[in-house]
Amino acid sequence: MLVLVQHLIRSGRWSRARAAEMGRLYARFEAQPGPRELEPAARAEAERVARLKRTLSDAIGEVRACARCAKGCAAPSGVFDGGRCCGTATLEVFAPSEVRAIKLAGIAPPSEPAPDGDERGGCMFRGARGCSLVPEARPAKCLVYVCHELRHELEETPRWSRIQALRAELDDALARLAARTG
Ligand code: SF4
Ligand code: SF4
Repeated sequence: MLVLVQHLIRSGRWSRARAAEMGRLYARFEAQPGPRELEPAARAEAERVARLKRTLSDAIGEVRACARCAKGCAAPSGVFDGGRCCGTATLEVFAPSEVRAIKLAGIAPPSEPAPDGDERGGCMFRGARGCSLVPEARPAKCLVYVCHELRHELEETPRWSRIQALRAELDDALARLAARTG
């Protein structure tokens, strides 16, 4: 991974700051146990967390609120029109417990920042069209979070009660996994 990071700095695609941030994220992944180090029940729990992330993301679907919520905001949120809550520090959202859950589910660490991202825009996986990661590779808090505007939109849809149930299920599954794996 270090070789890849150095190559990308030399190619001019990443700044040193982005590469250093990615290096710290990789170090977090390396510090966590992998699925083979787990008993089968804990592995199944981690896989369930990953499945719930995908299911919740599909249930939320395409929404208007997230595409325009940052319009007119100051940086980092306002660097793009949408994704205001992604104007945050990468290592804040990728907390060690979230990284552990991703790794234990057998999901590889992200390979690069969002190709259409902007270093002033907060999380390095935030791009002009939203998050560049598949749902399983995102922290659970990114999937569970529903701000006031998004809630207002979703409450008007027939899928809101299912979304609420899935959010609670994902929170519970993550807590159970943390209890099993420390
Ligand atoms: S959850 Fe809210 S703040 Fe986050 S991207 Fe969607 S509308 Fe914007
Ligand atoms: S991982 Fe994706 S959803 Fe989470 S803060 Fe970063 S860009 Fe946003």
